[in-house]
Amino acid sequence: MNLATSLSEVPRVGPVYQKRLKGLGIANVRDLLFYFPRAYEDFSKITPIAELKEGMSFCVAGKILEIQEVRTFKKRMSLITALLEDKTGAVRVLWFNQPYLITSIKEGDEIYLAGKVIRDMKGIYFANPASEKPMLHPGGVKYGTLHPRGGLTHVGRIVPVYAETSGISSRWLRSIIKSVLAQLENIEETLPATIVKAKKFLAPKKAFWQIHFPDSLADVEAARNRFAFEELFYILLFILSERKKIASIKAPPLKLDVALMARFTKKLPFSLTDSQRKAAWQVLKDMENPRPMNRLLEGDVGSGKTVVAAMAALSCAKTGYQTVFMAPTEILAQQHFKNVGSLLAPFKLTVGLLTGTSDRFISPKLPNDFIEVSRTKLLKMALEGKVDLVIGTHALIQEKVRFGKLGLVIIDEQHRFGIQQRAKLLHRSTLIPHLLSLTATPIPRTLALTVYGDLDLSLIPELPKGRKEIITKVVPPEERKKTYAFIEKEVKQGRQVFVICPRIAAPEGGEPRPAFGGAGTEVKTVKEEYEKLSTKIFPKLNVGMLHGKMAQKEKELVMRKFRMGKIDILVSTSVVEVGVDIQNASVMMIEGAERFGLAQLHQFRGRVGRAEHQSYCFLLTESSSSGILSRLRAMQKAKNGFELAEMDLRIRGAGSFTGTKQWGVADFAMTQLTNLKLVEETREAAKNLLEEDISLKKYPLLKARVQELRANLHLE
Ligand code: ADP
Ligand code: MG
Repeated sequence: MNLATSLSEVPRVGPVYQKRLKGLGIANVRDLLFYFPRAYEDFSKITPIAELKEGMSFCVAGKILEIQEVRTFKKRMSLITALLEDKTGAVRVLWFNQPYLITSIKEGDEIYLAGKVIRDMKGIYFANPASEKPMLHPGGVKYGTLHPRGGLTHVGRIVPVYAETSGISSRWLRSIIKSVLAQLENIEETLPATIVKAKKFLAPKKAFWQIHFPDSLADVEAARNRFAFEELFYILLFILSERKKIASIKAPPLKLDVALMARFTKKLPFSLTDSQRKAAWQVLKDMENPRPMNRLLEGDVGSGKTVVAAMAALSCAKTGYQTVFMAPTEILAQQHFKNVGSLLAPFKLTVGLLTGTSDRFISPKLPNDFIEVSRTKLLKMALEGKVDLVIGTHALIQEKVRFGKLGLVIIDEQHRFGIQQRAKLLHRSTLIPHLLSLTATPIPRTLALTVYGDLDLSLIPELPKGRKEIITKVVPPEERKKTYAFIEKEVKQGRQVFVICPRIAAPEGGEPRPAFGGAGTEVKTVKEEYEKLSTKIFPKLNVGMLHGKMAQKEKELVMRKFRMGKIDILVSTSVVEVGVDIQNASVMMIEGAERFGLAQLHQFRGRVGRAEHQSYCFLLTESSSSGILSRLRAMQKAKNGFELAEMDLRIRGAGSFTGTKQWGVADFAMTQLTNLKLVEETREAAKNLLEEDISLKKYPLLKARVQELRANLHLE
């Protein structure tokens, strides 16, 4: 048996358990061994029965004097009572609802028990303790005499406690993991010997033993250190070597025309903030280099990142190269097409839009209009270099879009890696394009160093002048009416309102489990809320509806009406989460707010307060759980995305934060991403190793592991 052995070949794991384990992402021995305990219970000390005290947990060893099953008639429950004796005394034992124990534990048995000691009228007793009989050594000798407690798995030692899901108990996992470890062949060391020595790492197989069945808690620590380092090390080797490859490829130097940029900014209806100016300068200067830019433009929602991106695209076009601008949603691609397109039209740029469902381009003569062309025509224009900027969704890289002279890739609001996207675009052109990522979600430093490689950073830490702080409120059910009255008043004053619902329509066959608690409350759906608001609550106002399942043309029509003020209240799903820019909107009402992450709520909130109007964000929840309410109240206090991102990272972990859940990186590795010191150390080690041996020729096992990671990572 080795790490790659499939669970189907592991004794005692039948089809039913294979299926349950698959639900936990466990398919082979490696996955199983990486299912680390979530805690340990220290039952290594054997307490004499005479020293037991009520209210605490103990482990005892002794002989069963008597055992019987009592049927309780009222509740038809099984109750087993027993008496256990050691040299110092005897204690009662009670097991509830475990009738099978009566067949496995007999009078005279020598047994270990571990659990909590409780008192009733008759004195103290063990309530539902874990039990285990010491195994016989193959020679017929009890382990207890041969090797003190050598055979014990569930008691009489430091016991691993696993995260249990329905159908898989800690007890079962312990037995299986232990027998797997016992049958496992030796695991060859993957890490370079120098590192293992310097860091005093446990050998891999020993580390697995110690993390599951530790001799001491210090051994758990030692094992964890090894695995944490190892998993991060592979990721970093992969990312750093990938980066080295990219850095050795040339990018087109895009000469900056300062006068052109000045003309552009003069034409804007506002003047740039100082930080926009500075960020734009950093981006434009960086693009002059013949090596590929890898830059993140980080600015809170509404800070004005799009206009900086537009300047980069303009600069790129004027040096004769093309730009790709990727938006996370179709709605946003449309919006960029319209806004960026009209900003650039005076400079005679040809701007195309390519999404899953529509292809169009702006001709320079028609700044506020577009010509619809066939997809084939647009693709041909891209290939021939006849379109300067192509804005779109993922369709841009998923399909066979080829660019004649690609100079710049802009990625908006996607916590994406960039490396693979670039790799995909790369084989379509001879030079590698520069990369600019726009994000409102600040990236904690640990992630910036790991998954994002060595990004250069440009910040827009201020909002344009005149913006007012958005008033945020958690709204309990009894204040719903008041909130509706408030909304009506805002609309009467000419403002517009978003109402966000967690779901489009009620699911067939009941509710799935909510992502962040809120169990038991009814999920608001766009369709029902739209019905209710348009007919009952606001019959005199214009209420519109928007969700991802609507046809593209319909969505566009709704967005256009909302933009033009023909819809007062837009009931929508999270499709408006990112980027949508309606300056006249002043109220963001979020139904079932507990179902969204903090960073996501912050994005919603950023849809209002984008001009001078005082704006409001209402977080509606029917939950009364204190955890949920305090998480939502964090929104009232935290004003910027950075605080919220850090909070989210703590509460929900790195995976859900970056959308890296889908990466295929082990959970354990993901949790290490929050440990800055470890990340820095590991990164240093990976860098040094690559400097010594960039292709890992001397480390074939390591190389294989990194290649495996490359194959399994889903970085898009
Ligand atoms: P985000 O950074 O969230 O992508 P946008 O680029 O969509 O923000 O900008 C938000 C709004 O602010 C847009 O309507 C944009 O036209 C406007 N804006 C951008 N820069 C400025 C500025 N310097 N002064 C005033 N308004 C600005
Ligand atoms: Mg934006």
